[in-house]
Amino acid sequence: MNSSEAPAAPEHRNVILCCDCEGTYEQLRRVHRVFQRAQVPANFFFVGQTAEAMPDLVREIARHHQCESHTYSHPNLRRLSYTEQRHEILRGRQVVEDCIGRPTRGFRAPMHCMNRDTVRVLNEESFVFDASRLYFRYHMGKVEEINPTWFREWMPLYEWIGLRPRTAFRLFRLLTRLKRTCVLPVHPHYSGKTPELARALLWFLNDARRRGIRFWYIDEWLKATRGVPLPERGPDEPFLSTGGLVADARGSAGMAPPSASSSAARLAAPERMLSR
Ligand SMILES: [Zn+2]
Repeated sequence: MNSSEAPAAPEHRNVILCCDCEGTYEQLRRVHRVFQRAQVPANFFFVGQTAEAMPDLVREIARHHQCESHTYSHPNLRRLSYTEQRHEILRGRQVVEDCIGRPTRGFRAPMHCMNRDTVRVLNEESFVFDASRLYFRYHMGKVEEINPTWFREWMPLYEWIGLRPRTAFRLFRLLTRLKRTCVLPVHPHYSGKTPELARALLWFLNDARRRGIRFWYIDEWLKATRGVPLPERGPDEPFLSTGGLVADARGSAGMAPPSASSSAARLAAPERMLSR
């Protein structure tokens, strides 16, 4: 797309939550509940085996969040041949799409490990965006990149040095102060490992919202900042008509609507807000 047509990047601070899902049912459910309580949107990257193991929970999450794929069995793709990668990526996508009953658009490589064969498959199979890049840089072709700001919550380290759970999320808080836009990874097997950790995640999200940070779905962010066309939404697909702000009809989330002058507010016509 002609860059002159792309809307200007929003001026406020922004967070994109990318949730990698290869944990247990309880861990995933905890993180989902936290997102619901905080009323924030997220992109969930499901491993195919997770969708097979807990389809009801995955479908429930899909009612509230955007869902993407994260391979079928979470291997290190760099150790696989092109053909093996292709099988992992496509089978993973197919299982997730069969489970949620709608197309996915994005991909994240397990452990952020990819190579040129990964990029080739993503291009051949028309993935819209990739949220993997952290260590390795590739020319991504037609695939949009959305690069993580940080690689993980890294709970084992905090546990090892004996810090309280909330301390783990102070790092996220610091990142959102340092950078205008943060793409933050959330892993249920870290953030949802215990109720205390989940409460700490909720503390971070509520604090971010109090500070006026806006949360985005990836494709809506790409539309707002790079002019990438938004795909048609299915009737059951969540869509942030508020351009990154999530608010319910009663405004109980405590967030002001975006000002009419904000670039985010001039996005596509209102369709559907994140439901409770
Ligand atoms: Zn993963």
